[in-house]
Amino acid sequence: MRLENKVALISGGARGQGEVEAKLFAREGAKVVIGDILEDEGRRVQAEINELGGECVFVTLDVTKEEDWERAVATAADQFGKLDILVNNAGIFKLGLVEETSPELWDEIMDINSKGVFLGTKHAIPEMRKAGGGSIVNISSVAGLIGTQYSAAYGASKGSVRLLTKATATTYAKEGIRANSVHPGVIETPMTAPNLLNDDEARERSIARHPLGRVGQPEDVAYGVLFLASDESSFMTGSELVIDGGLTAQ
Ligand code: NAP
Repeated sequence: MRLENKVALISGGARGQGEVEAKLFAREGAKVVIGDILEDEGRRVQAEINELGGECVFVTLDVTKEEDWERAVATAADQFGKLDILVNNAGIFKLGLVEETSPELWDEIMDINSKGVFLGTKHAIPEMRKAGGGSIVNISSVAGLIGTQYSAAYGASKGSVRLLTKATATTYAKEGIRANSVHPGVIETPMTAPNLLNDDEARERSIARHPLGRVGQPEDVAYGVLFLASDESSFMTGSELVIDGGLTAQ
């Protein structure tokens, strides 16, 4: 199994890509802590993994709150003895061109998508140091690589994730702590259901942006995250894994 003896913490693990990653990690032998603000969904995912023989604990986690991160990391250490992997996956997406974006909307998106990743990284590192190293996988977006026109704050937040990843990678490489970012194109999840994939026309527009002729599924991203989380990627740090059906290759 690809994550045997590993302990992973996944933020935003109650649904969407985080849920699929949690289930894949558990199938590959990891003990998994999932953190989310969605308690019912989080407990459902916990039960589904444990019923299939995996080991999973749900913890309430608002990624903007430092004390929540302290509790989530402590849960991994208390329940499973250590922390090897952090997937900073939680995020929100809201439409808004620069002129349409209020300071409140800007702060909301930056708080969750950018500060949330910073806080998770900050609190995971001491525990990874104790474990002798670790792997941090930060979910950015194609919107963190190229200018997108539908959400100024979202693009800015995902660009910050890309460079925080490189800062983390270069700062902690000597301690065996790796950090890489993942850049998905449009993926079919509850996040995109109400906007980029909400009707046939929107779906066709989204599909047309991807040379491979489809939007992505959560599994497309989860297998990339699995690779970066595992020791198979042990010579990778500070890198960008683009999973976008060719969107940014154009
Ligand atoms: P999703 O289905 O909305 O899942 C994200 C999860 O994070 C939800 O359970 C969400 O809960 C949770 N969350 C939101 N705010 C949180 C907070 N403050 N603390 C903890 N959890 C919080 O979205 P997804 O598509 O799986 O997205 C996962 C990641 O991929 C995000 O970082 C997203 O930006 C990135 N991404 C997605 C796409 C895409 O096309 N789907 C493309 C590129 C990158 P709520 O439902 O309550 O908000």
